Amino acid sequence: MSNDARIIFHIDMNAFFAAVEELDHPEYRGQPIIVGGDPDGRGVVSTASYAARQWGIHSGMPVARARALCPQVIILPVNMERYRAVSSQLMAYFRTLTPLVEPFSIDEAYLDMTGLAQSWEHAIAWAKTIKRDIKARFGLTTSVGIGPNKLLAKMASGMEKPDGLVVLRYQDLPAKLWPLPVDELFGIGLATAVTLRKIGLATIGDLAQAPVDFLTRRFGSYGAKLVAWANGRDTDLVLSERERPESIGRETTFRTDLHDPDALFGHLLWLSDAVCTRLRQERMLCRTVTVKLRFADFRTITRAHTLINATDVTGQIHRAAKRLLQEHWQGSPVRLLGVTLSGLQEKSAGRQMAFFPDPQDKQDIRLDKALDNVRERCGSDAIWRARYLLTGSRGKGEDK
Ligand SMILES: [Mg+2]
Repeated sequence: MSNDARIIFHIDMNAFFAAVEELDHPEYRGQPIIVGGDPDGRGVVSTASYAARQWGIHSGMPVARARALCPQVIILPVNMERYRAVSSQLMAYFRTLTPLVEPFSIDEAYLDMTGLAQSWEHAIAWAKTIKRDIKARFGLTTSVGIGPNKLLAKMASGMEKPDGLVVLRYQDLPAKLWPLPVDELFGIGLATAVTLRKIGLATIGDLAQAPVDFLTRRFGSYGAKLVAWANGRDTDLVLSERERPESIGRETTFRTDLHDPDALFGHLLWLSDAVCTRLRQERMLCRTVTVKLRFADFRTITRAHTLINATDVTGQIHRAAKRLLQEHWQGSPVRLLGVTLSGLQEKSAGRQMAFFPDPQDKQDIRLDKALDNVRERCGSDAIWRARYLLTGSRGKGEDK
């Protein structure tokens, strides 16, 4: 069976963090609950219970705003360890059904059910069983999407929340997928969606019918991918054990030792940008930034900083690297400079990274998206941050 004609489930837990809190605190059940931030009203909502959503509260919203909308809202801190424990029990349960389970985030997984479900009817029966099982064993509700590939399964699970079950086959696309706004197609970034709308492609159906040549001229090979996605084509396999790097590093040895701080900081920005671009391509976040310095006398030091929140934003990572360099470089000539990201984790689905309250972060994210888009279209050398030009850094760094 081709990769594009399988039976794939995408299982998405509903309001996962809030649902786990309701399990642990029965007295909160059915109450407006938000997880995230602190009771002083700082920080952003990580997850809102469905009761809280009725008040207009949603994830990414500042906690203070949530409290203004619903003064009696219950604010709980994020208990990631507990959510991870429940998540791994869920994944273990999925693996009793099929070995082909790909955890996609803490509360989502793809299951290749082709071997078990021989027909769509059979698949629906399986989905109902799984939903019942998860409710009975874990007390949690789920939305299950079923499709012939991962893309359509993912789109389907998003169509009915909470407690949904949607099948999205090729014949269902005109009625169910194509009327949706183009922004909702999984895999399309915000910047791309804006461009598509500007050129008159407002719905997924518009994109599906757009001439491939036209989009290729506009977006390079990414344009052809966009049209394929809009037509529900996706050849990505469910991979039970994805090959994931444990760290992403890049270092560069200078032709002549550097002592000019501006030049050194310019190279640092290039290296940070290179590792962060790779991090985003892997759809991962990092916690720890390490800077490596080798001096003219071959003395080598590495200095690390661990961030409070995992990130993939170049600006945040670059600032951490820069602080390390400022703290630990006393001016001796530098022969080699390196930046390594570790403490990697999968980036969860959705667009939560777009919800940074800090204007600097917002600006950084916009810049990253713009650069990623251009590089995807025109190759990694197509565009440079102005700072490199000032320092002549063109990065001959090597992947570690
Ligand atoms: Mg979810």
